Amino acid sequence: MAFLFRSSSVDESAKMDAASAHQIRTPEEAVSRIAYLASDVVVSVQPSLATDSPFSSHLKRYAGRKDQSLVAQNASSVPEIISVRQNNDPLLSVFSPIRSGKLVSVTTNSSILLPSVSHLYKLAQYPVVLHVSLEPKNFADYSVITSIRNTGWTFLQSETLQEAQDMALTAHALAVRTGKGVVHFFAPETSAEDKAIPAENTTVVRDVLDIDAVRRFQSGSIHASGIYADDGHVAVSSIYPEPVVGQSQTEKSGGLTPVPAESKATSAMTSVKTSRASESGDSEASVSVATTVETAPPQITSADIYDAATRIWVQLQASVGRSYSAFEYTGPADATNALFIFGSDVGSFAAVLDNAKNEDIFAKAAVITPRLYRPWIGSKLVNAIPKSIKRIAVLEQIHRKTTKWGPLLIDVLTSVKSGPGGVEHIVGYQLGYVDPQVITQALRGIFQNLTSEKPIQNLEVGVRDAPTQEIQDANQAPKLETAYNKILDQLFGNRRYVANALRSEHAGISANVAASPEFGFGSLLARKQLRNRFISEAKAAASSKEFTTDGPKNFLARWAMNAEDPAKAGEIADDVIARLETDGSPLAQKLLRNKGLFRKESLWLTGSDAWAYDLGNSGVHHVLASGENVNMLIIDSTPYSEKAAADAERRKKDIGLYAMNFGNAYVASTAVYSSYTQVLQALLEADKFDGPSVVLAYLPYFGEGDSPLTVLQETKKAVDAGYWPLYRWNPDNEKKGEPNFSLDSELIKQELKNFLKRDNQLTQLMQKEPKFASSLAQDFGTEVRAQQKRKAKDAYNQLLEGLLGAPLTILYASDNGNAASLAKRLGNRGRARGLKTTVMAMEDYPVEDLSSEENIVFLTSVAGQGEFPQNGLAFWDAIKDSTDLDLASVSFSVFGLGDSHYWPRKEDKIYYNKPGKDLFRLLTNLGGKVLADIGLGDDQDPDAYHTAYNEWEPKIWAALGVDKVEGLPEEPPPITNEDIKLASNYLRGTIVEGLNDPSTGAISAADQQLTKFHGTYMQDDRDVRDERKAQGLEPAYSFMIRCRLPGGVATPKQWVQMDDISNELGNETMKLTTRQTFQFHGVVKGKLKPAMQAINRSLMTTIAACGDVNRNVMCSSLPTQSSYHREVYAVSAKISDHLLPSTNAYHEIWLTDDDNKKTQVAGEAVQDFEPLYGPTYLPRKFKITIAIPPHNDTDVYAHDIGLIAIKGADGHLEGFNILAGGGMGATHNNKKTYPQTGRMFGYCAAEDAHIACEKIMLVQRDHGDRKNRKHARLKYTIDDMTVDVFRAKVEDLWGKKFAPAKPFKFESNVDTFGWQKDENGLNHFTFFIENGRIEDTPEFQMKTGLREIAKVLKGEFRLTGNQHLIMSNVADEDLPALQALMKQYKLDNVQFSGLRLSSSACVAFPTCGLAMAESERYLPVLIGKLEDCLEANGLRQDSIVMRMTGCPNGCARPWLAEVAFVGKAYGAYNMYLGGGYHGQRLNKLYRSSIKEDEILEIMKPLLKRYALEREEGERFGDFCVRTGVIKATTDGTNFHEGVAEEESDEE
Ligand code: SF4
Repeated sequence: MAFLFRSSSVDESAKMDAASAHQIRTPEEAVSRIAYLASDVVVSVQPSLATDSPFSSHLKRYAGRKDQSLVAQNASSVPEIISVRQNNDPLLSVFSPIRSGKLVSVTTNSSILLPSVSHLYKLAQYPVVLHVSLEPKNFADYSVITSIRNTGWTFLQSETLQEAQDMALTAHALAVRTGKGVVHFFAPETSAEDKAIPAENTTVVRDVLDIDAVRRFQSGSIHASGIYADDGHVAVSSIYPEPVVGQSQTEKSGGLTPVPAESKATSAMTSVKTSRASESGDSEASVSVATTVETAPPQITSADIYDAATRIWVQLQASVGRSYSAFEYTGPADATNALFIFGSDVGSFAAVLDNAKNEDIFAKAAVITPRLYRPWIGSKLVNAIPKSIKRIAVLEQIHRKTTKWGPLLIDVLTSVKSGPGGVEHIVGYQLGYVDPQVITQALRGIFQNLTSEKPIQNLEVGVRDAPTQEIQDANQAPKLETAYNKILDQLFGNRRYVANALRSEHAGISANVAASPEFGFGSLLARKQLRNRFISEAKAAASSKEFTTDGPKNFLARWAMNAEDPAKAGEIADDVIARLETDGSPLAQKLLRNKGLFRKESLWLTGSDAWAYDLGNSGVHHVLASGENVNMLIIDSTPYSEKAAADAERRKKDIGLYAMNFGNAYVASTAVYSSYTQVLQALLEADKFDGPSVVLAYLPYFGEGDSPLTVLQETKKAVDAGYWPLYRWNPDNEKKGEPNFSLDSELIKQELKNFLKRDNQLTQLMQKEPKFASSLAQDFGTEVRAQQKRKAKDAYNQLLEGLLGAPLTILYASDNGNAASLAKRLGNRGRARGLKTTVMAMEDYPVEDLSSEENIVFLTSVAGQGEFPQNGLAFWDAIKDSTDLDLASVSFSVFGLGDSHYWPRKEDKIYYNKPGKDLFRLLTNLGGKVLADIGLGDDQDPDAYHTAYNEWEPKIWAALGVDKVEGLPEEPPPITNEDIKLASNYLRGTIVEGLNDPSTGAISAADQQLTKFHGTYMQDDRDVRDERKAQGLEPAYSFMIRCRLPGGVATPKQWVQMDDISNELGNETMKLTTRQTFQFHGVVKGKLKPAMQAINRSLMTTIAACGDVNRNVMCSSLPTQSSYHREVYAVSAKISDHLLPSTNAYHEIWLTDDDNKKTQVAGEAVQDFEPLYGPTYLPRKFKITIAIPPHNDTDVYAHDIGLIAIKGADGHLEGFNILAGGGMGATHNNKKTYPQTGRMFGYCAAEDAHIACEKIMLVQRDHGDRKNRKHARLKYTIDDMTVDVFRAKVEDLWGKKFAPAKPFKFESNVDTFGWQKDENGLNHFTFFIENGRIEDTPEFQMKTGLREIAKVLKGEFRLTGNQHLIMSNVADEDLPALQALMKQYKLDNVQFSGLRLSSSACVAFPTCGLAMAESERYLPVLIGKLEDCLEANGLRQDSIVMRMTGCPNGCARPWLAEVAFVGKAYGAYNMYLGGGYHGQRLNKLYRSSIKEDEILEIMKPLLKRYALEREEGERFGDFCVRTGVIKATTDGTNFHEGVAEEESDEE
């Protein structure tokens, strides 16, 4: 007898096939592989997205290798793996793909089955396969399977590793052939000891799967319908195909086709077999209870399923030699006793029976197991049992029994008729955990009862509970979720009581239950009751005589009176506790046991969005309905960008709306990564509200590896698009006559809008916040967008009607505006030639019109790695794979704009003008006629892209026959910045009109140039740019405001004022810039003027903070010599004032209110005069700085004018060495542009400094290049003129000469962190402010902390040129208070690596419009990845100057860093090495366009080498030069020479 055959036999051919193949070791691996091969989509259920399941690691491996599935329709596509958290209603993810004709399988443990019953009923009618590993791992509970046996699914069981592979395959083949869902279940422990098996040969898998049937299924799709009601879908198998009117016979016989819901009636009519109860047990055609669905008779019967399974097994046997049947009988043919086992011990029992001796009571017994558990075909069981069997023990491994008789016992009893001549006794047992040591004993017990005269039913075998194992699959909260818990902690401290935090310990309660709202609510109620009892006890104690001291009584009495007031109770609590502790009596000790209850706790339930799925029945409902004062914090982690794909069918209910509808609850919707202060506000309001509160908190979550940047970007998109609006709803407001609803973001979704409309809240809101009116009124969506496109096109056509001439459609895709303006000019020129021209962005063009065009030309530039610019992407996506577009009657041409030097590596040259070339090729392939050959504009040509364009355009006119048109109108020259300045009436332009235009958040292009002079730039949030475009919305425009703060010195009062401005008018953050000033971001147009006024009220200004004027004048911050600093700083202020523009426009536009202005302007233009600048100001921006040796913290070489302070013998400022012509801006690959260091002009006395600066500026004003802005900075003027000539002009104008420069010495250009004392005994502390960003995060409340410090500081703040902050002039006696605050807010920490402390990054994404790559948000991450290496090489304390900018404009002065990264494209940087440590030498290009992995690959060995080979005191930049890693740049003019990676010119 060989019971164990199941785990071993493999036939020879399979062995040969598998010889070279991978060995499979676990049933989960076997199942995952088959599921992957046989599915279009695999839903992988995981404990958390960060924790793999035993299946998911394999699935990810296959997907990572891009392994093909056997059922993929497209050779290049690989199955989609959808990872879903197990407590996140995973089966919802099945509906959408299965209805669209995709084969879906699910890999999961059994914990999800019971909560998914409602889905199981509906999914039974689709060919879905569920592979289920039974839990718990060491003692599986089969009751989960018996509980769902009536859901209409087919159930297959496997017990060994080999069977797991074979049954997995059977399950997929059966699902496809029968059109019905199949559950394949197994207890992994049963195969724990099995040897590895070869992976099934894919030919066998393909044959068994029946790819033809697969294709027929895939070619159909089912109309989407709800999942909360029966959608009427009926399974259709290849055995009984659905007749479809008009379908040919051959098509009909094809079989498995998804059937739309509407065809339900037809399906019912064509049902060819009626259902009969399985109990009859004697008919092959019977339909089991399991497969009967009351509402719609199934198309397919139990017998059909059985037949299909049998055929599959016959096929399997033929190819691999293993045989299977619906009921497996193993044992002697003449056995009299049998075990019918439904549990995980089959193998162990079989092994004991195998080795039984004749005298054993269980000798010669057989084992029967169900392989096809549902449909249960009684007759097949009867056939499987030899006539000799008289007694059957039915062993069911069911942990919780709900009925008297086990379900298996009933199945066997109803199938196998007992009685004389047949089976005499069928006896049920409940199979508990049987220790392997006692199997024989257990068997003996079973057989003793079975063979007794009157066997007892329902005996328990083994013990109920298996030895406990660590449960690894418990739900896990994403680490990021701790953000909100930290805030709760911050706000409520020891008053916080969270009832059901994930991972909290609740003895005897499973993690799932403990995390449920019901459980939490119950425990909060218990907590409240406990406290009420405690209050009574305290009251009683107040008049008790049991205390040993008098202290407690009074305080207890006072406390009891105020116990319900959180603030007062909290205040008295400390006193009461102290008194009780001193008292020490037993009564005091008793009260102290619950001392937490002396505080009025803030009671919180925390949970996830999974609570939304069955909202009506859930604990959320109970809490709301109870009216209890309980707060819920519900975290929603569905990423915005995934919601459409993953949640199409989820119908997650909106908890916020649900709660607001209740009317009695406080509701808030928040997102910590969008508005930190709004979260604080909401949590405080919720705590205060006397009733239930629901705070919804958004925290998009992809996986534990998410970088904060991803979370931030996702949050912004969700909030900005209205998917996750920020709002607060407080029913108490009504009593105060205020609207209940406050909207804290700008867009809301339709459902919310409807709710508010119904409640009349929308009107109130609009009245209160008119700025919202326009965004609230607009809807968005793809249909709207489509209609807009159509309308735009029709309007154009109407316009053109009546015009003669041939039509010419011009479409453009433009990244930086060049292609767009070229297209528009082409359109104008065409029109002048009598053509009917239409010009549009590709994204606005309705693609369906393409084949009806007569003439069409495309102009496109290049984005990213050879991709279409954003406004051409959708168009390209729509046509690129098209095979049915017929362009035979369309004439076309393409002009591309690119840069042949952009990609230095030879292999990347293909990206040059790729979109244009791709488009041209495609249009040719689609049969289009070439109007003119493709034109390829190249930035490297003498006239840039114009060179090729000027050849291409005439060819278009010639091809259209309009090249000889006479009398063309003269074209106006393009408008330049110089024109704008000139026409602006001293910087007024139409700024006022633009500010007053409520229809857009933007201002005109010309005004955008002018507002720079006023210290503000228009920007748009690039994180949400694409999303808004897709929604048909204008970009999220806002303004950056930069203050003018000479020398970077601000009073504490000013600091608080700046902080207020950022909170109330900006985006809740401030940036301390590399020019020592405050910068605000995210100021929307409507708040721009109030923000400017607030800045001026704080005695700062913004005038000339940007623009073609002298900007903020910098000065070393010098904490150690305050008196000397004061003298030098005074000069920086003097220069700044002296060079200020004089226009009244600033005052007029920003600082006068509307009434004033009417009086002031009074109908006549204001006459302005700019004595220094004249009407066109300077050719380009102009920057001045002062450095005080030995500190070069302001990078004196990087500016148009750099003043080096020279101290006299008396210790006072004597004068300055003056450098001129430094500058950072450059353009990638444009060798005519370069960074430059300032050249020494000589020395001048301190009192002359502002005049010397003025004269240098004036020579630049008159000699700078006003034609080419890329060549307009002073550095080019001086290089073109030579230093001597330029200096002579300055001296002429000045009437004085520069004296020879005086000696000086710089030592570093970084800040010194921590405390320092100055010569007057005052203290200074330099804070490390990473990249100058002042903000609060849940982890670090830096902004609040600095504000608190500013409130008490008596000294001043100094902003440093490295974007850090110094708290200055602190007297010794004030130190303790400030140090306490610093400690409280963790602001005293300066223990960072030397690299981090010496780093600096510009703003870049998301606000800077010029950014090509991340900078401020990425540099800290990159440094984090290098710090281990620094540590390992003993470099942690070494200062290495590393800088990063998002583009070559160079705002963070990257070219002077020892190592720098300058953005090239998103995620790609040019790397520079060899800068001088104290900013004296420019660096040089080392590598182009490298990504993080390459950066790390270069940096790590280089740092190691530096650690090992450096000379005493040698700096990193010098080391790179000395060792030949890079050549030294001795002057800006040789910056491009001898670079490490020469750019190749080859195509
Ligand atoms: S360096 Fe470039 S990306 Fe960075 S802030 Fe300046 S302009 Fe923007």
